[in-house]
Amino acid sequence: MKTNLLDLDARALTEFFAGIGEKPYRARQVLRWLHQVGQTDFSQMTDLSKALREKLSTRAVVEVPHCVSAPQATDGTRKWLLSVGAGNAIETVFIPEQTRGTLCISSQAGCALECAFCATGRQGFNRNLSTAEIVGQLWWAVRVLGSEPRNARLGEEGNTRPVSNVVMMGMGEPLANFANVVRAMRIMLDDHAYGLSRRRVTLSTSGIVPAIDRLREECPVALAVSLHAPNDALRDELVPINRKYPLRELLAACRRYVDASLGDEISDAKWQRKGAPRDFVTFEYIMLDGVNDSAQQARELVALTRDVPCKFNLIPFNAFPDSGFARSPESRVRAFQEILVNAGLVTTVRKTRGDDISGACGQLAGRVRDRRTRRAGESAMRVRSVAGERL
Ligand code: SF4
Repeated sequence: MKTNLLDLDARALTEFFAGIGEKPYRARQVLRWLHQVGQTDFSQMTDLSKALREKLSTRAVVEVPHCVSAPQATDGTRKWLLSVGAGNAIETVFIPEQTRGTLCISSQAGCALECAFCATGRQGFNRNLSTAEIVGQLWWAVRVLGSEPRNARLGEEGNTRPVSNVVMMGMGEPLANFANVVRAMRIMLDDHAYGLSRRRVTLSTSGIVPAIDRLREECPVALAVSLHAPNDALRDELVPINRKYPLRELLAACRRYVDASLGDEISDAKWQRKGAPRDFVTFEYIMLDGVNDSAQQARELVALTRDVPCKFNLIPFNAFPDSGFARSPESRVRAFQEILVNAGLVTTVRKTRGDDISGACGQLAGRVRDRRTRRAGESAMRVRSVAGERL
């Protein structure tokens, strides 16, 4: 079986070349061809010897997920629905802004964690994505966006890179696919590949505590946590993983994460060269009408998070039939924000983007699975095409 070279970070690629009797510097050369040039044809990698190119063609491939659809919203948001085989599709979303372009990447086909408000959770879990399928989303976006006129993707003051920031915030729980996600992020950070700083790669988790500690050790990047509730009783309902890792443990892990990035534990020279990740955690909080949006709950949240350097991102809920939830009125979102801000917490309200292309995570992929499932005569319950919330 041939090795897909997009599955390999610098270390694994070096081992691969050692295994075929080649020098370590070949790994750097091939990383640049794959990720900076976007070349998938070994015969075109002109600084490799002819013999090596032929050797590679017998032992390796470069396979990226292929695109099923690519809608573009009127606000410039792009969404790619990528096929990963066996009827599974994943979503990748690009959000252009004046000063940056953010790519939201999926880590699993479906998700097992069943957060109460999430479209992806409603689809159930299908499988973990491979490293190639994760980093392949960035590979794809850079190729597509790089071939378009700059003004089509970013404003006048825009960053010169088509993708300046990556958020692991699409379909799936990234820390439940730890090894593949970390390998993909190492490629994103690698100067011979995408060269992103740790501050520009954000991993968003629902709160798998041991994996947060591992991430801090193995690949520290900016951390976002889906909080969504100010106490365990409510969070147990909204984010069921809370029953296993309650708030006290989760917040302690957040604190350890931030302490490490403040410098105490930075010993790895490579980490220092790439810069520390951010010195705060971003807490995401979806605003659900009458569920978690009262003034009292805002005050509870302030008390809960007082020991963790943090920012808040309040997310208006995208309502959908049968969700059982509704979006909080804007006035209540503003009142909630004011309480947090008055307590000294930087708090933003997320702008809704890409509404006309089902911008919320899981909607398009849900439809693909919905059609497939109906053909197969399975229950439509597991795969409803609904609007969830990760974006
Ligand atoms: S919010 Fe995230 S962790 Fe929760 S079900 Fe959705 S994709 Fe999974």
